[in-house]
Amino acid sequence: MEFDLDIGLSDEMRAVRETCRRFATEVLRPTGIKLDRLSAQAVIAADSPLWDVLKQFRALGFAGGAMIDDPSLSPAERALTHCIIVEELCTGDVGLFITCGLLNIAPTIAQAAGRADLVEFFGARDEICCLALTEPGRGSDIVAFTEPGYRDPRVKPVLKCRREGDVYVLNGQKSSWVSTGTIAGSGSVYATFENSPVGLADGAVFLMPFDLPGITKGKPLEKIGQRTLNQGEIFFDNVEVPAKFLIAEGPEIYPLVWEMTLKGANIAMGEQFVGVARAAYELALDYAKQWVQGGGPIIQHQNVKNRLFSMFQKVETARALARRVAIADATQAGGVPFQYAAASKVYATQAAFEVAHDAIQTLGGNGLTHEYLAEKLFRDARSSLIEDGENSMLGLMAASRL
Ligand SMILES: Cc1cc2nc3c(=O)[nH]c(=O)nc-3n(C[C@H](O)[C@H](O)[C@H](O)COP(=O)(O)OP(=O)(O)OC[C@H]3O[C@@H](n4cnc5c(N)ncnc54)[C@H](O)[C@@H]3O)c2cc1C
Repeated sequence: MEFDLDIGLSDEMRAVRETCRRFATEVLRPTGIKLDRLSAQAVIAADSPLWDVLKQFRALGFAGGAMIDDPSLSPAERALTHCIIVEELCTGDVGLFITCGLLNIAPTIAQAAGRADLVEFFGARDEICCLALTEPGRGSDIVAFTEPGYRDPRVKPVLKCRREGDVYVLNGQKSSWVSTGTIAGSGSVYATFENSPVGLADGAVFLMPFDLPGITKGKPLEKIGQRTLNQGEIFFDNVEVPAKFLIAEGPEIYPLVWEMTLKGANIAMGEQFVGVARAAYELALDYAKQWVQGGGPIIQHQNVKNRLFSMFQKVETARALARRVAIADATQAGGVPFQYAAASKVYATQAAFEVAHDAIQTLGGNGLTHEYLAEKLFRDARSSLIEDGENSMLGLMAASRL
């Protein structure tokens, strides 16, 4: 039997791992390869295989963010199971996993906010949700809640919010980087108050449906990697959002809600890019055992051996940190401090990028072609260094908490 470092996994966890491994291999990876070659518009066209993937993901029973809600599991077991599911699915295709992960997640967000009415409202809708934060020219500015610019009144938002009686009026737009932006039916929308005296730090967070009058979408974004993940702008033209969709507001709470959200997103990114790193490592290992140069399989050569060992180490280290942070976050009051979540995200995405780079090197010229997965994994991993907070920016923010 193959050695398994995952001691202490229950039979159920192993069964879930097997199910996810099969779904990643049989559905996510082949569909991801097909979608990666299409235009951003074709990825979301009515006849795109994307919709069938979402249907099959629903049937797996993991949709809704939490992925696993077995009440007999302890918080630590639930977090570990979540890490296992996410890693396995992301070996298949990370962009498709993120899309699936946003399917029917609104009720989970409402639950975390303690809003039974919104759990009921969004529970009755079957749709993708999105997290709409980034604005044109306001990327890191709007992410970096630790930096002085965040509270500088000279830094103005692009999406502006004001309260008028029982409604909030939104005007402006979110940037083309909003994941699932053009296909989402609802979103967690962050909007700064137009008269904020503290820059971007005074705003309102809504969990809102996108069928309100005045909301329109932009074109899907063309990009280098994670091409299977739809992204695009959301425009707001005098949109009147009923107060019942408000989750939080005001300068004391708004930055805290964003910090909690970014923390959750960074922990998830850590788990996801362990899967991408592992996919690249396994691809290179298989290839090195079969490809013959210099009189035998290239794994016999010291340079290849050393490279593979370095890749192996990075996968194991990224996984150890991602799981440790996810489990600590799920089991301790208030979760982990921000710097741990950032460390997990930055480490795992950097590891995935380096391992995918080394996979290309191991495959030689073949690694540069569409025939092999290495170049796609490299492009997917490259995007992750900017996703959910540019890595050096996250480092800067985390350092202010040390
Ligand atoms: C694949 C992907 C998925 C994404 N999904 C979403 C999503 O679902 N929702 C959403 O709202 N956004 C999303 N984003 C947007 C993402 O969060 C932003 O791209 C990111 O925060 C960086 O912003 P920017 O691209 O505008 O870069 P900029 O902020 O313009 O940064 C450019 C460079 O300047 C540096 N820099 C900027 N400000 C400072 C500073 N104050 N101090 C020091 N250096 C600085 C940065 O480190 C960076 O190197 C996604 C992005 C990607 C790539």
